[in-house]
Amino acid sequence: MTYNKNHKIVLQAIIHEGAMEEDHGKQLIEKLFGHDNSAEVLHRINTKLQPLNMIIKYINCEITGLLYWVFANTAQDTSIRPQLEYSEVHLTLLRTIFSEIVTSDEGHVSSTWCLNLCPSSNINLSKNSAQMFLNDMVEKKWLFCKDGQYYIGVRSIAELSQYFKDSHEDKLRTCTLCKQTLFYNFTQGQKCEQCDAVIHLYCLSTYTKDQSNLRCPNCDHNIFNLDCSDDANNSPSDTEVSISKTKRPTRKRRKH
Ligand SMILES: [Zn+2]
Ligand SMILES: [Zn+2]
Repeated sequence: MTYNKNHKIVLQAIIHEGAMEEDHGKQLIEKLFGHDNSAEVLHRINTKLQPLNMIIKYINCEITGLLYWVFANTAQDTSIRPQLEYSEVHLTLLRTIFSEIVTSDEGHVSSTWCLNLCPSSNINLSKNSAQMFLNDMVEKKWLFCKDGQYYIGVRSIAELSQYFKDSHEDKLRTCTLCKQTLFYNFTQGQKCEQCDAVIHLYCLSTYTKDQSNLRCPNCDHNIFNLDCSDDANNSPSDTEVSISKTKRPTRKRRKH
């Protein structure tokens, strides 16, 4: 299959959204191409993008586990400026939030904390403008927001890995399974008590096929601290990302 106008439509839709949820992308491909071979379509698009140093990356949301197709640069910069066309004061706010998320134990920061940064001497933005900017960051998937907490979004994971490495290398944790940086740190459910290995929950859900024999992929410690509670409350660590022994999540994971 050669690159045609339908590939172009898919690419434009992904660029427009910045990051497209895979289910949405598959529906689009099915509608345009009459089949659901999205891997083939994306491979064709990526071949076209390669000389431009651009790529469609597969990135899982760390909070929901959903897979996204993210339009990203392959030549990454140590700064966040090339990717984000905002004024310096907005970028200062964003860098401060990124820094707080990466250095926090939990991997998220409250919206109140973010808004209380404004206005200040180096972030001269009204709380209203800051809120509008943060809404925009969530909309464009640079940040993820749930229950008043901001997390690192899929686009930042795809596009800003060099920036995070350069600015916070000593704080970054790497998933034992997929070797990608892991930002969101669950208090339980993804850290081995014996060797301190950390693992994305969506990676672990794929890896741990045998739920009755839970072992750390790094040290083989046999009681991996999975959150097996079925308690329904609204905390992401207990509901959306918990791995139940009886109900396996159906999240998809792709090797990068
Ligand atoms: Zn992983
Ligand atoms: Zn271990």
